[in-house]
Amino acid sequence: LKTIFSGIQPSGTLTLGNYLGAMKQFVDLQEENHCYFCIVDEHAITVPQDRLKLRENIRSLAALYLASGIDPEKSTLFIQSEVAAHTQLGWMLQSISYIGELERMTQFKDKSAGKDAVSSSLLTYPPLMAADILLYKTDLVPVGDDQKQHLELTRNLAQRFNNKFNDIFTVPEVSIPKTGARIMSLQDPTKKMSKSDSNQKASIFMLDDEKKIEKKIKSAVTDSEGIVKFDKENKPGVSNLLAIYASCTGSSIAELESKYRDKGYGQFKQDTAEAVISVLKPLQARYYELIDSQELDDILDNGADKAEQAANKMLAKAKKAMGLGRVK
Ligand code: ATP
Ligand code: MG
Repeated sequence: LKTIFSGIQPSGTLTLGNYLGAMKQFVDLQEENHCYFCIVDEHAITVPQDRLKLRENIRSLAALYLASGIDPEKSTLFIQSEVAAHTQLGWMLQSISYIGELERMTQFKDKSAGKDAVSSSLLTYPPLMAADILLYKTDLVPVGDDQKQHLELTRNLAQRFNNKFNDIFTVPEVSIPKTGARIMSLQDPTKKMSKSDSNQKASIFMLDDEKKIEKKIKSAVTDSEGIVKFDKENKPGVSNLLAIYASCTGSSIAELESKYRDKGYGQFKQDTAEAVISVLKPLQARYYELIDSQELDDILDNGADKAEQAANKMLAKAKKAMGLGRVK
């Protein structure tokens, strides 16, 4: 039995990228493993958030986890800020992180580029993420490709702590899906699709209706060659749609290339849209049943209790290892 941990930020409505890169894997993993899935609201506040919108996004994300198939009987679903151990261990791990290594993180560079007010927590986000993971003796972290670098840092911090103080942390492995690990923006296919992208046409949101999905995919940037072929370098737009189509249907890229050999982009885009709709539509129906339910609150209460019990044990070990507090 392996322990799995993964988190998603309530920084906007989830995109198809979040679903295909992360959430979709979670559902299969919960069958054979001990899983923790987290709504990482403390990560979301590293960039400015509207308080009412944040609250709404937290609840919406919880409902999307459940609608996508997370079963609270099998997995622990909880909100990061409801388990205090996360920020406590996060602070301790900041104390063994170097400013230089944090400044080298590409997410920090991307999210701070061109901004004149950058919060210090945007820089210290990776040690908090490391704390999220290390608190639960996590063996495996399923994430999209963009989180590889943060995972590498998490492993370094775990090893650094273990060597310096006491060997208490499990050094986690990363798990990245074969297709869908990096879904790109529909408007600029050299950039990853992100829920906090200000261009609404760049992302398919998990709650978009059929018409919107069709429209966005039809206006997705491609090229003028008219050949459906996977070539990330020269045909990033078409390659992205192929990845989306393959990941939504389970077909291989090669199968799709031959299916559309003599067809233009029109039919290909239409079918890609249908593939996306067939994945998202049933999920949306479940979402609307859950969003205002008491059941959702009960699940989150229960999840926070279970997570807290496990997290506090590890936090106590880490404090002891570092010499914080008193002997008890
Ligand atoms: P933000 O723009 O606020 O950072 P985000 O869309 O990047 O939002 P996160 O909450 O940071 O979403 O990431 C949640 C999970 O989704 C992570 O596992 C991340 O690797 C994955 N993910 C994010 N974007 C993509 C994408 N475009 N393709 C595949 N996986 C993705
Ligand atoms: Mg992100």
